[in-house]
Amino acid sequence: MAKNSNLNYYKDEKKIDSSKDHSNSKCDESKGSFEEIPLKDYLKAKGKKLKIQVKEKSKTIKKKSKKLSKQIKEQAKTTAKRIKELSIETKQIIQKKHKEWKEKERMHKQSQMENEKTSVSNIEKSKTSRDSPRFCPYCGHEVTQGGKFCPNCGNSY
Ligand SMILES: [Zn+2]
Repeated sequence: MAKNSNLNYYKDEKKIDSSKDHSNSKCDESKGSFEEIPLKDYLKAKGKKLKIQVKEKSKTIKKKSKKLSKQIKEQAKTTAKRIKELSIETKQIIQKKHKEWKEKERMHKQSQMENEKTSVSNIEKSKTSRDSPRFCPYCGHEVTQGGKFCPNCGNSY
């Protein structure tokens, strides 16, 4: 029924199109009340059709926006997940670096301690060498550690 009447409206549209060069009032006058009712109905139907089109369009837009918002949500979810993963990775890297740094620091300290030990032992060695007997550079007489003058020749050493 609606399709049939729609066809009539299309016919009417053709009629109106063909009589475009004439003024509307003249058309109405010449054709009388016969044309008036279909034109009204046509406009009504056209308005209805437009309404339906608008409704459908808004429906499609709604659907599209829904889909888009879903996509955006999913994207945001994926991005959030990626960020979380990255932050975890970064944390792990920092922890690893920290461990490495600590190990390095420990090894450095150890080597420092070893160096100190060697230098201490070197000092001790030099001490013992200082403790070992010394001789006067002038006469070759054995002199004591604490003394300043050779008991043999009297020179200072
Ligand atoms: Zn001497």
